[in-house]
Amino acid sequence: MSTVLSSVTQRFSAQRLITASITCGALVFGLSGAWADSTATQVTVYKAARLFDSVSGQLQEPGVLVIAGHKIQSVGPASSIPNGAKVVDLGEATLMPGFIDAHVHLSEESGPNWYLDFFNGMLRFPAEQALYGAHYAKATVEAGVTTVRDVGSSEYLARSLRNAINAGIIPGPRMLVSNYAIGSTGGHADQSPFPPEKIAVATPIKGVCNGPEECRAAVRYQIKFGADVIKMIPSGGVLSLSDPVDNVQMTQEEMNAAVAEAHAWGRKVAAHCHGDKAAKMAIAAGVDSIEHGSFLADDTLASMKAHHIYLVPTIFAGYWVGVNNEKFPPAIGVKARAAAEQIQQMFQHAAKIGVPVAMGTDAGVEPHGMNANEFWLMTKNGFSPSQALMAGTAGGADLLGLADQIGTLTPGKVADVIALQGNPLADIHATEHPVLVLRDGVEMFRKSP
Ligand SMILES: [Zn+2]
Repeated sequence: MSTVLSSVTQRFSAQRLITASITCGALVFGLSGAWADSTATQVTVYKAARLFDSVSGQLQEPGVLVIAGHKIQSVGPASSIPNGAKVVDLGEATLMPGFIDAHVHLSEESGPNWYLDFFNGMLRFPAEQALYGAHYAKATVEAGVTTVRDVGSSEYLARSLRNAINAGIIPGPRMLVSNYAIGSTGGHADQSPFPPEKIAVATPIKGVCNGPEECRAAVRYQIKFGADVIKMIPSGGVLSLSDPVDNVQMTQEEMNAAVAEAHAWGRKVAAHCHGDKAAKMAIAAGVDSIEHGSFLADDTLASMKAHHIYLVPTIFAGYWVGVNNEKFPPAIGVKARAAAEQIQQMFQHAAKIGVPVAMGTDAGVEPHGMNANEFWLMTKNGFSPSQALMAGTAGGADLLGLADQIGTLTPGKVADVIALQGNPLADIHATEHPVLVLRDGVEMFRKSP
């Protein structure tokens, strides 16, 4: 027991030394001060049967990766192995960059009983819910997801998780967070239709805005409280009680104002759109990604390709709410069925058209730690295994604005690395079984032999 505790303590002390912090807006990674020297001296060579190169989409055989401190030093069988380096042979495994999930809700999770979730959601204190978030963050990084974009949380839970992870006091993925999503009264971004005599109506500080000036204010509040990215809700959603799934919920002027304000502060905008008309308006406003996209028409997908706007398809969430449909109240169940029927077809069209895709799962709608299920659903709907893996690595890094730091196994980049049992290009389900997870060069998970 004491050995386990001391190894855990050592691991987190090491992690704390690596101040791979994403500070609000500045998106800065880096070592600080004397800590850099102590970690830079640790050189580890990882050997495996193969390595997935997310630049070319090809496998290298055998896979060799040299990590010095928190960074990748060299890649490939020709790498020279420094004297005194620790060598880890992973056998029949595949090394690859850590997964990037561009759409999660790390501070919450739906269970099998919607009504119980609602009840708990009303009664849990933020401090109590934060402990659940820490549990979900651990499950996520242990599933091989080394970076997430958290696109919607209440009570500043996600930014608090991000800061605790960056401080090294809990294990978890690198996080970019949006705080509250921005949208209109009664829309998907608003709270449930509680009687205002019982629950106060939400205002721009909680992301609910009407008119361009309020929407600017809503964006500013999220940034003030630490948002790295802005989540905007121009269209209806599935898991909300009082709106259609696909209607337009913000005016063009509101979307233009929110996006302009976010961009003025150096934040990208992720737009939740099931409906096609809302997506067309969001594209005109200049958003950086469309989330879900269930009912997108081909001309919308083509316009996304032309403007390099990412699709974050969250196919697994659509699949999950489809197969667990009976747990929802009827008003939500109808919407869940409608979206579940369309999202896979839409993805097939997106794949043919060649829209840039970043992997995203909407984890929290489904249990955390199952993120890799998105990969087989992409391959079932038109992507090759290699394309799916690139969407979950290099694609995500590009969308998040972190391509110079993560997403590929390139010397000089941060050592976010996983090893999968088997060959994911031969069997995509290999993505569901990481045997090793490193974030910033620090071991977050290793499957016991
Ligand atoms: Zn979501």
